[in-house]
Amino acid sequence: MKVLLINPNRYHNPPVPPLSLEYLRGALEVTGHECRILDLCFAEDVFAALKAAVEDFAPGVAGITVRNIDNGMFTENRFFLDEIRELTLRLKALGVPVVAGGAGFSFNPRGVLEYLGARWGVSGPGERALGHLLDALEDGPPAAGTILDGWQWGADPELAFASRGEQLDYRTYLDQGGLAGFETQKGCYGTCYYCMESTGRVIFRKPESILRELKALAGRGVYQYHLCDSEFNQDLAFCREFLQALIASGLKIEWALYLKSTPYDPEFFRLLGRSGANLVTLSLPTGPDGLRHAAQIKSLAKKNGIRLAVDYLCGFPGDTPEKVRRDLEELKKIHPDTVGLNSYIRLYRGAVPLEACPPEERKFLFGAVEDNHGLIRPVFYSTIGVETLREIAGGDPLFKFEGFEQTSNYQRLNGPAR
Ligand code: SF4
Repeated sequence: MKVLLINPNRYHNPPVPPLSLEYLRGALEVTGHECRILDLCFAEDVFAALKAAVEDFAPGVAGITVRNIDNGMFTENRFFLDEIRELTLRLKALGVPVVAGGAGFSFNPRGVLEYLGARWGVSGPGERALGHLLDALEDGPPAAGTILDGWQWGADPELAFASRGEQLDYRTYLDQGGLAGFETQKGCYGTCYYCMESTGRVIFRKPESILRELKALAGRGVYQYHLCDSEFNQDLAFCREFLQALIASGLKIEWALYLKSTPYDPEFFRLLGRSGANLVTLSLPTGPDGLRHAAQIKSLAKKNGIRLAVDYLCGFPGDTPEKVRRDLEELKKIHPDTVGLNSYIRLYRGAVPLEACPPEERKFLFGAVEDNHGLIRPVFYSTIGVETLREIAGGDPLFKFEGFEQTSNYQRLNGPAR
């Protein structure tokens, strides 16, 4: 079947190449489906580009990736689903049924499917599940509203995706401040209610498959990356195996990645540094445990020529200005290369249903609090207002206020790391 894989993401701070569509294309073409990627990130006229692609390629189905519901920020929030719904409606009018998927879709598959008006959906990893849906379509369409659970179908850890870069204009992304991405794993063992990527499950890829992919991209002149794993250090044994393979391959890449505060050890950081990692971003909620690890991570990162950025999140139940003040004083002592501050927690699955929120807590809710059961429209929880946070930060240039600064950590720290 012919599948038009559409990237509707037009966020440019920074622009993010649609890695998931390249992975889907690689997986679907192995099973005999013909794919074309329509990247609308830089399209001047989105609907004209959509119409032209449909007329030229004549797809049997369109797959739309919903990477994010919104940009996750309370300040300067950008909600993306209305634009994607408009694309879905246009495709319907052109006679092309739509299957939706992606990380943003997967946090509330039924809610997002209905919001968009898409025909079918795939939650979780799509590489195998979408192929199954397409096979089923050839025998007659599944019922409208069918959503496949991609975690049940899984993903092939040995697929190498050596065709990456064939249908995406990486040069434009790089010129506009974007970075290529790659994955070593899918999912996260964490179940944090404030994170869209909490899946509680992980699929690890084979290191040799990842290296074949990176070598193919090197052949297209791509050497700089931001890892697209939720957080790399979920299994240190796997991390070491991948890093050793990357070092042994002789491939010279530079890459940035996200880490959680544990696990890690000196050997892990030594391998990271040797592999070309030049920036680690540490996700840090309030409290002394994370800060203790941040101090050790800063020391290990510095020793191995790696910069450290911290994404500090406060405003949780029980957080007080005094507690946040103590944390920021500690962060000043640790002195990462940059610290992003955010005190508004975007609520996702697992949060207390809004209607069950006790009256004394409702004053901490912001955004679309009424009539928003699936948390599709952004709702935030905060016990620390932005003015309070500014007063605590005291104008120290170490601290950047997320939402006000429309840049990512690697852009803030642009330049050689060592
Ligand atoms: S915050 Fe980090 S550990 Fe928690 S679910 Fe998200 S990616 Fe996983």
